[in-house]
Amino acid sequence: MNIRVGTGFDVHRLVEGRKCVLGGVTLPYPKGPLGHSDGDAVLHALTDAVLGAAGLDDLGTLFPDADARWKNADSLTLLQHAVALALECGWRVVNADVVVATEGPRIAPYRAAMRANMARALGVDPGAVNVKGKSLEGLGALAGGAGVAVQAVCLLQGPPLAS
Ligand code: MG
Repeated sequence: MNIRVGTGFDVHRLVEGRKCVLGGVTLPYPKGPLGHSDGDAVLHALTDAVLGAAGLDDLGTLFPDADARWKNADSLTLLQHAVALALECGWRVVNADVVVATEGPRIAPYRAAMRANMARALGVDPGAVNVKGKSLEGLGALAGGAGVAVQAVCLLQGPPLAS
């Protein structure tokens, strides 16, 4: 079996006046991720994990901030696009796992909805995608709800043989 693993990471500041969209779910929180797109750090990290595993360009290269097409873009669209590019190269998603480090919105009550969104975009069962929140223990610049940091890993299976 030919498999590849990819990793992704993203950080966004949480600011007032922005919808709090994470994992494709709008959370009831008074601040949201600042960004050119919807700022969904969960999906950005996951998208980079998919692209990384497939050996493709990264999120910032494929969907540049300077491109008006991606202003306020739904990050699920970006993830779906990345999965389609990977599929074109002969890779399909096996599973993915995500850690969301924040002291902003609570993640636990929305895990199931995030898993469902990500699974749909990745073309896998929800059981093959996981996500969990972690506290920052009051440490660092992201503490106190100032921001969100996300780590993602994704496994792809394909026919492409290593060159
Ligand atoms: Mg981002």
